[in-house]
Amino acid sequence: MAFWEDKTLDQMSETEWESLCDGCGRCCLIKLEDEDSGILITSDVRCKLLDGDSCRCTDYPGRKAKVPDCIKLTPENVTEIKWIPTTCAYRRLAEGKGLAWWHPLVSGDPQTVIDVGVSVKGRTFLETDVEPGEWEEHAVDWPEWEPPETI
Ligand code: SF4
Ligand code: SF4
Repeated sequence: MAFWEDKTLDQMSETEWESLCDGCGRCCLIKLEDEDSGILITSDVRCKLLDGDSCRCTDYPGRKAKVPDCIKLTPENVTEIKWIPTTCAYRRLAEGKGLAWWHPLVSGDPQTVIDVGVSVKGRTFLETDVEPGEWEEHAVDWPEWEPPETI
């Protein structure tokens, strides 16, 4: 049995935990807050440390110093943070859904995350390139899209 089927999130080793990240980059998109309702809206603007092509953090070990509000996911907080994407492997496991068919650990190929349309690769704008008056134009809902559960 695979480790993600056999263990709870808090039983996993650090290596197992880190390997669960599918590299989609969705959690590294900037959230916009609706001024009236306080509701968080997704955007196509990526954190200044996210590589728009590889969708990896360019300074994972030093990220907290450069991006203080970067959240480190844990077995505890993954169920509490509402904006964690529904496709996120950590959230899926915490909710008992298992890993999706397109997850690299299941498909055996990181490309399936891109092919199925979950990855943010090539679809984002760098935070530091967005002018103050342009933020509203970047409110998008595609980062909330979920692929079908089966092929
Ligand atoms: S949303 Fe989840 S799976 Fe995707 S990059 Fe973030 S932590 Fe990894
Ligand atoms: S600092 Fe790194 S891990 Fe944190 S949001 Fe930015 S790109 Fe993602």
